[in-house]
Amino acid sequence: MPRPIRAIIDLAALRHNFAIARQHAGRARLWAVVKANAYGHGLQRVVRALCEVADGFALIELERAIALREAGLTKPILMLEGCYSADEVPLFIRHRLIPAIHRREQLDWLLAADWPAGLPVYLKLNTGMNRLGFDASGLAAAKSALTARHIGCVLMTHFADADGPRGIDWQLERFRAMTSGMDEETSLGNSATILRFAEHIGDWGRPGIMLYGGSPFAEVSAAELGLKPVMTLQSEIVAVQELAAGESVGYGCTFTAERPMRVGVVACGYADGYPRHAGTGTPVLVAGRRTRTLGRVSMDKLCVDLTGSACGVGDTVTLWGEGLSADEVAAAAGTISYELFCALSSRVPVIERE
Ligand SMILES: *Cc1c(COP(=O)(O)O)cnc(C)c1O
Repeated sequence: MPRPIRAIIDLAALRHNFAIARQHAGRARLWAVVKANAYGHGLQRVVRALCEVADGFALIELERAIALREAGLTKPILMLEGCYSADEVPLFIRHRLIPAIHRREQLDWLLAADWPAGLPVYLKLNTGMNRLGFDASGLAAAKSALTARHIGCVLMTHFADADGPRGIDWQLERFRAMTSGMDEETSLGNSATILRFAEHIGDWGRPGIMLYGGSPFAEVSAAELGLKPVMTLQSEIVAVQELAAGESVGYGCTFTAERPMRVGVVACGYADGYPRHAGTGTPVLVAGRRTRTLGRVSMDKLCVDLTGSACGVGDTVTLWGEGLSADEVAAAAGTISYELFCALSSRVPVIERE
C-alpha cells in the first residue's frame, strides 16, 4: 500500500472555471496563466485540458514553455517576464514565444537577434505596481524602435489592488495617459480584474487563480463567484490517540487537552505542501465531516480532533478542495490559496479526474 496522500485534479472543474472567465471577459481573448507548474496543478495536464478553449498560455519558465512546444502545443505562448539574457532570444524565436518585456535592454537583445516581424512583443508599462515596466518615455522609445522594424506590440500593465480598496481607476488613468494616441491592443487584467472590472481588461485577459478555483478576493468566496475547486488534497487517518486531560500533541506541545480527547494522526505534513503556519483550529474534513487540526504540523504528519466521532484509521481526510475551500484553509494559515497550490510537493501522487 502506498502512503495514502494524493491530490485529485478535476479537469472538468478547470474547464468550468475557464468558462466563467469567458463569460466575464466577453469579447476579450484569454491567456490561461500556467506559471509555477500551473499553480501546482501540473502544466502539461492543464494545458491539455484547456487547449481547445484558451487563446494562449502565459508562463514564466523558459524550459517549461519549450516543453510545451515539444509536446506539440501550437497556440500562442506569452512569457510574462520576457527573457533574462541575450542568449535566450534565439530560443524565443525558434519556439515562437512572445516576450513581455519591461526594460530597454531586453528590447535591444531582441533587435540585435533579428527578431522576426511576425512575432509580436508585449510591452509592460509600470502604472503603479512599481515592480516591472517602462515609464512613458521608455515606452515611446521602445514602441518606435519596434515600429521601425515592423514588429507589432501589445501594451500591457498589471494592477496592484484590483482585489482591494484602491481598485484600478488610478492605474487605468496613468495607462491611458501613457498610451494616448496609440492604437495597439492591450492586456490589463488578472483574475481579480476579470471578475470585478471586466470592462477594463483590454483585448487580452490573463486569468490565473480563478481557473484553479481560488478566489482572488479575501471577502468573496470562490463558490460565490461560481468557481469550483480543481485540486483536492486528501489523505487518511493512520493512527488514533486517546489523550488524557493534560496530555499534549505534537512538537512544542503547543496543544494540551483540557479533557479526554480522541486525536487522529493524518499522513500529511509540510513536506507535502500543507502549510506549517496553520495553527490549531485550521479546518479539515474527516469522512466528509468538518473538524479542526490540533498542535503543530510536522514534516509528514498532522493531527486532527476526532473527539466525539467514531472516525478512525483509514478514514479519508480532505485537507482542502471539494467540500473545504483552499481559501479558507489558507486564511487560517495567514496566506492565500495561490501559495497552498504552488507548494504542493512533488512527492504527492496526482490523480486526474475528467
Ligand atoms: C500571475 C499573473 C497573472 C495571473 O494572476 P491571478 O491573480 O492568478 O489571476 C496575470 N498577469 C501577470 C502578469 C501575472 O504575473
